[in-house]
Amino acid sequence: MGLLAIGSPLDWAEAKQHADHVREHGIEQFLHIWHRLKDRTGDVLLWGDEIEYMVISYDDEGKNARLSLRQTEILEDLQHDASERKKTSPGREACIPVFHPEYGRYMLESTPGAPYGANLEALLSVEGNMKFRRKLAQSRMHSNEVPLTLTSFPRMGAPGVFTDPYYPPGGGVARSLFLPDEITNPHVRFPTLTANIRRRRGAKVAMNMPLYIDTNTPRPFIDPNIHDRNIWPEDANARDGAALPDHIYMDAMGFGMGCCCLQITFQACSVNEARRMYDAFVPVGPIMLALTAASPIFRGLLADVDCRWNVIAGSVDDRTEEERGLAPLKHDRFVIPKSRYDSVDCYIYDCDSNRPEYNDNDMPIDPAIKERLMQDGVDELLATHFAHLFIRDPIVIFEETMNQDDSKSSDHFENIQSTNWQTVRFKPPPPDSPIGWRVEFRSMEVQLTDYENAAFAVFIVLLTRAIMNLGLNFYIPISKVDENMHRAHQRDAVHSQKFYFRKNLFSPAPGHGCSPLPSAGHALNGLPAHINGRANGDDTQSSTCSSHTTSPRSHSPTCEKAEFGPVEDEYDEFTINEIINGDGKDFPGLLGVVRKYLDSLDVEKSTREQLEKSLELVRRRADGSLVTTATWMRNFVHSHPAYKHDSVITEEINYDLIRAVDEIERGIRKEPTLLPACYEGSSQAKEGDLFKACCGDVMDIANGAKVEKGL
Ligand code: ADP
Ligand code: MG
Ligand code: MG
Ligand code: MG
Ligand code: MG
Ligand code: MG
Repeated sequence: MGLLAIGSPLDWAEAKQHADHVREHGIEQFLHIWHRLKDRTGDVLLWGDEIEYMVISYDDEGKNARLSLRQTEILEDLQHDASERKKTSPGREACIPVFHPEYGRYMLESTPGAPYGANLEALLSVEGNMKFRRKLAQSRMHSNEVPLTLTSFPRMGAPGVFTDPYYPPGGGVARSLFLPDEITNPHVRFPTLTANIRRRRGAKVAMNMPLYIDTNTPRPFIDPNIHDRNIWPEDANARDGAALPDHIYMDAMGFGMGCCCLQITFQACSVNEARRMYDAFVPVGPIMLALTAASPIFRGLLADVDCRWNVIAGSVDDRTEEERGLAPLKHDRFVIPKSRYDSVDCYIYDCDSNRPEYNDNDMPIDPAIKERLMQDGVDELLATHFAHLFIRDPIVIFEETMNQDDSKSSDHFENIQSTNWQTVRFKPPPPDSPIGWRVEFRSMEVQLTDYENAAFAVFIVLLTRAIMNLGLNFYIPISKVDENMHRAHQRDAVHSQKFYFRKNLFSPAPGHGCSPLPSAGHALNGLPAHINGRANGDDTQSSTCSSHTTSPRSHSPTCEKAEFGPVEDEYDEFTINEIINGDGKDFPGLLGVVRKYLDSLDVEKSTREQLEKSLELVRRRADGSLVTTATWMRNFVHSHPAYKHDSVITEEINYDLIRAVDEIERGIRKEPTLLPACYEGSSQAKEGDLFKACCGDVMDIANGAKVEKGL
């Protein structure tokens, strides 16, 4: 979540009156940024991860694992520790991890103290940094609490006790039959977001995930826990058909925004490199969702899907009936096919390789906004992108920030931009900041261990370098990417599904006919692999961001038009194994191109070996020699003695599952189907285990102290 402004939020009836104001000024704010920074080049590669945790509270006597609602106290303590550290270690702020609040009152988010720089060695410190952050989080928890990186909490919203302290379901904000309002971060932004989404929609949100039908599951499955209630008008929703038989019905924002994920943000060297990276990430989104699948259980029931994405999409779906196409348009302006949380709707790189045929989705735009942007020289693709995001209403408006200086603020812009939650986000620089154009990769589910989270982060970082340095082209029609999102959710998608992917990754390279490729042989955006750059403005870092790589189509009158065949000939259906590991013939796979990129660098043997340890996880999850987190969880449930093969996850099964996850993370419990034998758990981190922080300092994982000796 972004910054938390303090103020008085407007309720929906009033916020609605100001929607045009926010949109209009939001676009003006973007134009100020655009005019100032569209030609800015030469920013260095910076990147950083975000990891979200659930605070688990054990009740060992009652054999129950619950969500601890102590976010506020834990964060205050962590922030206190961070400011103490800053006092005792002036100038080393970059070493001090940052913790943020999240939607769930049991959630924490952490990021490194500063983004990582453009050097391969940084990649070797990612796991240590993540472990350090987990240690810090743990250090401020009670002895029965633990920070776990679970994507969805299996029994959230199930009957019984799933929070600590206990609150009965209900409350006027979400009006859920299953969740108490107390599950939500109490900062006024979050209840307002929750209530205004419900009010705008005119009903509670409704997610129905297909139930996994086991041998003893009653058919049709009519959930006995969907009880009748007559307090709020919305209590009629379930009665009136919002809850489907043979599905897991969920009725509140917390079910989705209360999930955890792993996100990676990159700073590109220019706006055009960011747009190119954005487009390349789009088809990769569903592939990585399938590969990181980690959420097979919702509301105490085993699902027939493995991923969180559709649950979150539904959980903030504020579209009215008219917008959902269920009633003729009378009050609203558009029929909108997707929730504001969903997969990307259009490619944005302004280049011949981005053929118009790829943007084949039915995608409403606000024509006046598109015209306004183009009037000021924004090209059609980017104008279309924002004219699409800006069909949405602002959901939370703070009275105090209504009137802003559009040349100095981006609040109104961010209000709409950051409540469009897509698989990839194109992030313009904030006004008055050294930060450049960024792209965020958002589809991955968080993994149980930091070894895995680091491995997926490292893989995505190396993939961006391969994309840029080898001039890779991943374009396929967006409608096929959407189909892939659907397939990625399916149970055991790594084995059960095929995915659309581009057949020839090398041709024509994006930039063909408009911008030559960056020169080859550069590590991580232009640095020789051995340079130990620092994240914070170390100007020993140069950039390959030449004027060539940044010149948009219109600036290259001499460029030749690429010759294209039918779009349908460009892609095929592949297994995840083929997409990642190659087909053994012409198609190298994403790991193939990453290795090709690494081969082109002068990488020290020990560095390469360590990187290969990360890549091994990606390779083996894709080839099926290791299972996904979701599959491991399913197997655990199926082999649990208390499981009755009726799709129900009891408190006892949940407790044992959470304990097992915890023990895996610590390295006490070995799960050779899930993790390679080399995995050492975090409990193995003892004083003297070192990692290199992003500031370049060498730190002790066990206590975060700076140490003098090298790694
Ligand atoms: P949000 O929640 O808005 O997505 P966060 O601030 O939580 O963003 O996390 C953003 C991530 O991007 C962090 O890992 C941070 O280290 C990283 N980051 C910060 N500044 C930059 C930058 N200039 N370029 C790339 N990454 C950055
Ligand atoms: Mg977050
Ligand atoms: Mg964040
Ligand atoms: Mg955020
Ligand atoms: Mg979240
Ligand atoms: Mg983020």
